[in-house]
Amino acid sequence: MPQPKDIETAKQLFADYLSNNKLRKTPERYAILSAVYTINAPFDVERLYLEMEQQHFRVSHATIYNTIQLLIDAKLLVKHLLKNKDLYEAAFHLKTKHYLVCTECGSVREMTDKLVQTNIENSKMGRFQMSHYSLYIYGECSRCRYAKNRKRSNKNKQK
Ligand SMILES: [Zn+2]
Repeated sequence: MPQPKDIETAKQLFADYLSNNKLRKTPERYAILSAVYTINAPFDVERLYLEMEQQHFRVSHATIYNTIQLLIDAKLLVKHLLKNKDLYEAAFHLKTKHYLVCTECGSVREMTDKLVQTNIENSKMGRFQMSHYSLYIYGECSRCRYAKNRKRSNKNKQK
């Protein structure tokens, strides 16, 4: 869970980034940052847009896309490398994570597995020093499998 402390730190880092790059510190940019750190899961642009609406903050899609890019550049947001849709996640407290990615609907779920983590952390990487990692495991989520099975059994009934 992101802590209020994390959001404050992220805001400070974003302020530094904007100053260093001579970019304007607009309320919209900070509001988007807060929303990003409030959503505690990988999200797409539509989800972020809804979060902004819930916080009664009206911003254009262009501003959202533009700010997302700034947050990625400032290393406060990561973009998941998935093929069906672009998903983003707050990066500040993001360390080591395992994701289960559904190739049908594109949903992403987190998974913890201490054994996998220990094995990767103890892997030989030569002179490379790992800071953290993301692991994507692809397959079909339970919802998609259920939907497929139901379709199949309906077909069988019709025969
Ligand atoms: Zn699915």
